[in-house]
Amino acid sequence: MKKVVFLDRDGVINREIGTYVFQFKNFVLNEGLEKALLYWDKKGYSFAIVTNQGGISKQLYKHQDVEQLHVFLRDWFSRLGLNLLAISYCPHHDAYESCICRKPNSLMLEKMIARFDVAVNDSFLIGDSPRDIEAAKAVGLRGFLIDANSNLNDLIRSND
Ligand SMILES: [Mg+2]
Ligand SMILES: [Zn+2]
Repeated sequence: MKKVVFLDRDGVINREIGTYVFQFKNFVLNEGLEKALLYWDKKGYSFAIVTNQGGISKQLYKHQDVEQLHVFLRDWFSRLGLNLLAISYCPHHDAYESCICRKPNSLMLEKMIARFDVAVNDSFLIGDSPRDIEAAKAVGLRGFLIDANSNLNDLIRSND
């Protein structure tokens, strides 16, 4: 079984800018990300990303825009030798269509846990929104709520 660090995307991996991020010019990795991920990698963790992208439902951008950023992210993880299992995103938004994947719903997490044989008790999720933590709780994952764009090494320090 795998132990996994589940990461929200906007605000945790890259800069939360208060509006939807779908272009490279707004896609800025947060300070300390690389160091923190390498720390968890050394501890034997794999990684997975779960992100709400309701801007697709709102027709502000397309799947292709999201995919483009995710191609970059997969490449970035692999260049660092990090095991990124998958990136899962929910394209829906409650205002336009209901679904059971948008966080705080937990379908994205449930699928990943089953698909990658995740050791839930040895894994955790990091998010910058209460709905991230709610989704984690729904599947029995420990959730860490951080401030948007904070340095993940602070989280490591306060839990060491
Ligand atoms: Mg976020
Ligand atoms: Zn959805």
